[in-house]
Amino acid sequence: MADYLEKDYYEAYDPNAKGEFIPNTKIEVIRSEGRGHFTHALFDFDGTFSLIREGWQTIMFGLMFEVLKSTPNHESDEELTKFIDTLILETTGKQTIYQMIDLAEEVKKRGGIPLEPLDYKKEYSDRLMVKINDRREGLRNKTIEREELLVPGTLDMLRGLKEKGVTMYCASGTDDHFCKEEAHLLGVDEFFGDNIYGALDDYKKSSKALVIKNILEENNLSGEVLLGFGDGFVEIEAVKSVGGYAVGIAIDEKNLNRQIDERKKSRLLGVGADIIIPDFLDAKELITYLF
Ligand SMILES: [Mg+2]
Repeated sequence: MADYLEKDYYEAYDPNAKGEFIPNTKIEVIRSEGRGHFTHALFDFDGTFSLIREGWQTIMFGLMFEVLKSTPNHESDEELTKFIDTLILETTGKQTIYQMIDLAEEVKKRGGIPLEPLDYKKEYSDRLMVKINDRREGLRNKTIEREELLVPGTLDMLRGLKEKGVTMYCASGTDDHFCKEEAHLLGVDEFFGDNIYGALDDYKKSSKALVIKNILEENNLSGEVLLGFGDGFVEIEAVKSVGGYAVGIAIDEKNLNRQIDERKKSRLLGVGADIIIPDFLDAKELITYLF
């Protein structure tokens, strides 16, 4: 079991790797080996195709800043800002509870007495829900089109993979019931069927690595048939570590202007992303290339 606890970020590949662009696209190919025979695909949820929780980093930053600033031995605002920015960047893709365990540890390091990580998580979730409730309600009562809260090109990508006969899975660090509900609100649940896995209260029993292990074992597959998509290091690392091929989405979620978020990109490259894209608007070319 211990092997499937979520790991911290570590650099195993060159974070500054340069690739080549497929002509007339924003698809940057770092490594071309390993394509052509994918039968299964794993998607992360938030920031990979769902934009419902866009801005979560700001909410988490606010909470962490407030909590760490109230410790006896905290650093200057400037140093604290830098520290928390990096912490969030390097834990993107992990289950929220791990991020809150980190927060509690940092409180201790600064001479404070932390709350339980679960209490921090509850506070974070409540604050985030205030921010995203209009989006969820808008989707529910159809005043917001689902395309507005999907990473551009997502539906083309999912349809294209379905046409190729690929079995699709979704694994998320967001709580399981929210993840399933939001996939339904976005109308993408049909592509995944029962294969949507979010975080469980017993956090040691769920992880992206465990989802991948089960996919491979239950279907008696080797990792080379697995294609992964994600904006966080966790899913990219998990796909690469079983020998799969990984597409990193270095999306600028706020602006959606097809510009790459360079900091996200370097973290994704550091764990071995084989391709970097800003969104799925080049879905057709990407599928042609991958297969
Ligand atoms: Mg994500």
